Amino acid sequence: MSRHTKIVATLGPASSDPHVLQRMVQAGVDVVRMNFSHGKAEDHVARAEAIREASALAGRPVGILADLQGPKIRVGKFADGRITLTKDQPFILDARCELGSGERVGLDYKDLPKDVKPGDVLLLDDGRLKLTVQRVLGHEIHTTVKVGGELSNNKGINRQGGGLTAPALTAKDMDDIRTAAQIGVDFVAVSFPKSAADMYMARQLLRAAGSSAVLIAKIERTEAVANLEEILGASDGIMVARGDLAVEVGDAAVPALQKKMIRAARDRNKLTITATQMMESMITSPVPTRAEVSDVANAVLDGTDAVMLSAETAAGKYPVEVIEAMSRVCLEAEKSSEIGLDREMLNRVFSRIDQSIAMAAIWTAYHLKVKAIASLTQTGSTALWMSRLNAGVPIYALTPEVTARNLMTLYREVHPLLMSQTHQDRDVLLWEAEQVLLEQGVVDYGDLIVLTIGEPIGASGGTNTLKIVRVGEHHRPGTLDDRL
Ligand code: PGA
Ligand code: MN
Repeated sequence: MSRHTKIVATLGPASSDPHVLQRMVQAGVDVVRMNFSHGKAEDHVARAEAIREASALAGRPVGILADLQGPKIRVGKFADGRITLTKDQPFILDARCELGSGERVGLDYKDLPKDVKPGDVLLLDDGRLKLTVQRVLGHEIHTTVKVGGELSNNKGINRQGGGLTAPALTAKDMDDIRTAAQIGVDFVAVSFPKSAADMYMARQLLRAAGSSAVLIAKIERTEAVANLEEILGASDGIMVARGDLAVEVGDAAVPALQKKMIRAARDRNKLTITATQMMESMITSPVPTRAEVSDVANAVLDGTDAVMLSAETAAGKYPVEVIEAMSRVCLEAEKSSEIGLDREMLNRVFSRIDQSIAMAAIWTAYHLKVKAIASLTQTGSTALWMSRLNAGVPIYALTPEVTARNLMTLYREVHPLLMSQTHQDRDVLLWEAEQVLLEQGVVDYGDLIVLTIGEPIGASGGTNTLKIVRVGEHHRPGTLDDRL
């Protein structure tokens, strides 16, 4: 059985050993996320090499996602590494403080005092601690602790309701974009974008650095939820970044937002990753909780392209087991009758020939209940359109381009494979595609399959042909070359 939903796993100390990484890839990782909040440029270069090696050894394509740190606002360091805050005590966030104590701590975003006002609620460490702003005195924010607890070095700060103005791309992000381009990553995730403009800026920097990577907007600010449509328009996909999002909009609002955001993205032919705490307990436990199983399964039912693991694979005790567990849950959820062809497809408006073929292929495949679709593609765009419609038919995307193959690792229902397309004859290529599916063991003689291809051969955006065949029905077509 081939899994339709993709798994993104974050690399970290728990998964940097090449053997562990290779076992993770074998267990089903489709995309590896490199968190640019940690490590230097040379570390990222080395990590990317390790990922490519693991992919080659496992014989499975693996995409690479560079996740930029973004303007996450953080407290500074404490003299003792950590303090404990108790309810009702005063505490100062001081933009000029060098080393923190039980009374005050520094800030990495020096303008925060300008952004907050009395009455604002600040949430620290993913919402574990809560402070209310009493007054702002120059560079000092005086607060009262509402919910206390331990606070350690460099923990994040969010304002309930959002609205902090730190720019989306920091100087560090700009450097990191160059590193990501140099590595040749397939996806770049932008943290905390507020608007389409933030995404345009990231895209410009990325292209200027020579990268053709696909851009994912992490939706984790209140403003980003409000500006979802314009952000989608400026991005190739979104991440439902539930960690920070829950802190900004309130945790209870997140499940409904997740459904809405995935729906909106699919309607616009964009990608989605559902992230954070999906299998959190597996950081220390070999099995997930019932709630986690349900969460992963529900994301699959919502139609997400991928489910993501963060600390579970970066710092957890069970980096391989968690992938096996997630994979098992996805596979089972995909059998649900709740998942069905997108009924809105008839209302979709399109005028491109290649897109029309993609839609027709899905419609045909769905009604004829074919075993598989094989799509010969240069850039993967035909496969992307097909994968937005939830037909439940595996789409084998055959491309001669390594970049396109790696990009498609994130597409739901799409299984990217390399196939050199040296022949110029359409029918020979289609016959060869049939052989690839046979070799992969995904079809048998007599199975019905749908094939798509474009002419002229090898040009991108040229898909113009749909063919329905029974596997093994035809011999290799003779071509002019062969006859000579
Ligand atoms: P992060 O993003 O892990 O980089 O914070 C994901 C999230 O906020 O959920
Ligand atoms: Mn985040």
